[in-house]
Amino acid sequence: MRIDLHTLSSVSDGTESPAALMATARAAGLDVVALTDHDTTAGWGLAEAARPPGLTVVPGMEMSCRWFPTDGRRPVSVHLLAYLFDPAHRGLAAERIRLRDERVGRAERIVAALVSGGHPLSWEEILAAREGGVVGRPHVARALVDVGAVESVDHAFATLLHPTSPYYVAKADTDVLQGIALVRAAGGVPVFAHGLATKRGRVVGDEAIAAMAGAGLLGLEVDHPDHRDDERAHLRGVAADLGLFTTGSSDYHGMNKETTIGACLTAPDQFELLLAAGTGAAPYRD
Ligand code: AMP
Ligand code: ZN
Ligand code: FE
Repeated sequence: MRIDLHTLSSVSDGTESPAALMATARAAGLDVVALTDHDTTAGWGLAEAARPPGLTVVPGMEMSCRWFPTDGRRPVSVHLLAYLFDPAHRGLAAERIRLRDERVGRAERIVAALVSGGHPLSWEEILAAREGGVVGRPHVARALVDVGAVESVDHAFATLLHPTSPYYVAKADTDVLQGIALVRAAGGVPVFAHGLATKRGRVVGDEAIAAMAGAGLLGLEVDHPDHRDDERAHLRGVAADLGLFTTGSSDYHGMNKETTIGACLTAPDQFELLLAAGTGAAPYRD
């Protein structure tokens, strides 16, 4: 069984439509793929309609969250994967809308700062180029490549769009403890995405993960292209201590990232634990 539980389509900041992504998943020999676009369920129906026979599709999303350190330090950006939740749950649906609005305002501020810094970007063109209702730094990164400001999307993330860049603007994301509670209230399964990906910026400590587990977190994404071996080993230990299941996934974004689909995989027994915990929606399968 080849199981990849973290992929994004063009309804957020991936480059393939949900239908194309399903075909990519099948062509790569996956048996199970989860669609986890940022802060939206807009791709669910499209993925279900395009599902090739034999492929199981797990509807999900990646929710933009923040951890607030108890010692008053600045909040840390964290991503919460949520699977099999009820898309009609009022509280969670309202939070998705708030997060998407927040993304638009924040991206506009990043672009304005870059323009003031001499990079000739067009906010209107960036908005027009995106296919879904979600805007993210990958859209800005593409535009920076197009105007020749950077050589690649990856280079943009390492420089102009990195959290340490003067052009970076944070989003007012959901308090992760609240996010976890909302996902559980909607019958969903919350999993902490790429929790130790230090190359992306600051990460949380073990006390944060313990607090998340206390709030209802059920799993940790351990195998991820942005995790080094020592980071994976540490997370595996934390999961064992807290009684969380573990997943492995690619975080595939089509052409917007160098990662290939299926680059990391989830063990079937861990997937069964995830499936058993989700009551808000059913996977799409034969
Ligand atoms: P945002 O949510 O707007 O802050 O943008 C973060 C998104 O960019 C996430 O989906 C990441 O997976 C993606 N991302 C992070 N690092 C890179 C990179 N080096 N190249 C392409 N995409 C990246
Ligand atoms: Zn993304
Ligand atoms: Fe993420």
